[in-house]
Amino acid sequence: MNAGGAAYRDSGTRRRAQPRKGSLYPAQELKRRAMAWAVTLRVNPKVIRVQGMRRKWGSCSSAGTITLASDLVDKDERFQDHVIVHELLHLRFSTHGKMFKALMSAHVPGWRRWEVARRGNTD
Ligand SMILES: [Zn+2]
Repeated sequence: MNAGGAAYRDSGTRRRAQPRKGSLYPAQELKRRAMAWAVTLRVNPKVIRVQGMRRKWGSCSSAGTITLASDLVDKDERFQDHVIVHELLHLRFSTHGKMFKALMSAHVPGWRRWEVARRGNTD
């Protein structure tokens, strides 16, 4: 977007900029974010869904379904990335082994700091 100085003003078609956090479709944005990460990580989840989860922030099924907790949309984007990358990496690694952690560090620097903020277990 361009906020260039003396630009013209057209009050008729003026649109209020949507703050990212207050988006109309936060769950869609979370999904989109996860899909972008899937491309980056070169993994291919079958389905990415966002739904209410009480005990976890995310999960990855052996069938390739990634589930993200709907209340993640209220969280810091870096925390979202941490959960998303964690779950997506499970499409390649089933455990939290050396490679898993190395890739977490490569893509989400400082992820260990978020680990404590995860609820319950870390599937
Ligand atoms: Zn895990």
